Amino acid sequence: MYEFDAPAVYAHESVIADARCRVRMEKVISALTHPREPKVFTDENILSLIGQDKFFSGCNRAMGTLEQIPDPVIVFNKFKFSDIAREQLKPLKEKLLKITDAQRALALTGDGAFDWACYNLPEDPDRNDKVCRPCWRIHFQAGCLHKCHYCGFGGVLITMTNAEDYILQLGRLMQAHPWQETFLLEDDADVLCLEPELDCTGPIIEFFGTLKDRYLILHTKSWNTDWMYGLKHNGKTIIVWSIAGPAQSRDIEPKTGLTEQRIEAARKCQDAGYTVRYKFKPIIPVEGWREEASGTIEQVFKKTKPDVISLCCFMWMGIDDLKKKLAKHRMDPVFIKAAEDAREETKNTTSKPFPEWVRAEIYEYYLNEIRKYNREIPVSLSTETWSMWSRIGKKFGFTATNYVCGCGPNSIPNRKILLAHPYTQAKRNGSWIK
Ligand code: SF4
Repeated sequence: MYEFDAPAVYAHESVIADARCRVRMEKVISALTHPREPKVFTDENILSLIGQDKFFSGCNRAMGTLEQIPDPVIVFNKFKFSDIAREQLKPLKEKLLKITDAQRALALTGDGAFDWACYNLPEDPDRNDKVCRPCWRIHFQAGCLHKCHYCGFGGVLITMTNAEDYILQLGRLMQAHPWQETFLLEDDADVLCLEPELDCTGPIIEFFGTLKDRYLILHTKSWNTDWMYGLKHNGKTIIVWSIAGPAQSRDIEPKTGLTEQRIEAARKCQDAGYTVRYKFKPIIPVEGWREEASGTIEQVFKKTKPDVISLCCFMWMGIDDLKKKLAKHRMDPVFIKAAEDAREETKNTTSKPFPEWVRAEIYEYYLNEIRKYNREIPVSLSTETWSMWSRIGKKFGFTATNYVCGCGPNSIPNRKILLAHPYTQAKRNGSWIK
């Protein structure tokens, strides 16, 4: 587990009452730099506790805007897989939503295990702008130990502890959705950080190991994989490293694995039989980004054999916001100027701040570097625009609707192209929920 000094520890009363969950919590607490007695909370007193301890005060702000980034408070909870409990806790959830983000509000009330991501379906407000795949996303934590300067998931890390209940419900979800072949864990946290002490990711990996034609995708920036090699994963877990050059990983993503540590972890996981892949995401055009990209791609292919690589430039905020969050870092001045000049052009797109020509130049550079080492590996764009796909999709050998990627619901190991249309295939089946 990562070394960290949680300034406070909280546990829901249900964790204390459940022997297996309590042991998990105690193991994590013992591994803290300063083990602390957990403060026990209930659904009734959580709001007053938050008010009194102000434990959300460091949350929801990009960590790069803080003078000092503290280690997060840690909260242990259990999922409540009962519609009655969820209904009863709705008013509490509404109140929590005024204090924190949706992920942490859900996690504090024992909700949020599975989330229908309606990407590009009629109900998706960004469907005309951002290309992704509709599917079920799965969650186990909210908050993170890594301190990426552009991210707001610091301050409080909420982890669930009832992996066995989770697995049972996940099995039901999967049965009701035979078209979804892979399940991403997770995009609100990095679940490797508290392992093996928490002992929840291992059971989930081994559960997938018992399944036919279903895959778990773990998404990480971590080095912490030694505990995984002996698990009975049976080739059913794919690990996707978000990868970046040395300057970005060292300076902007300070508590993650360094570039070489992530690649070394991938090499060891590959030797242990896991499928490994990479996402260059987010690509931040730091000064010297071309050399950083070339060196990293060389190391990736020298040490590992990924089955897919995806690319995604830094996006989802305006240039002024970006400059605030990454004020301490040296960026490519040409691209920063281009983003400043493109405020008007990019104001209505989620892909801001960099204009399309900047992002296209970056993608083509990465693609050419990758092709120096591997002519066959699928390389795709992640959460890019329709317009970008029209502009450079051909160079990648894909269209917006047939590419495989790092965590798509049908990007199973070694698949080179999607076999079915992602937007007609994905069907939400609500009847699995009791
Ligand atoms: S690893 Fe992901 S979730 Fe964790 S701090 Fe970095 S960007 Fe945020």
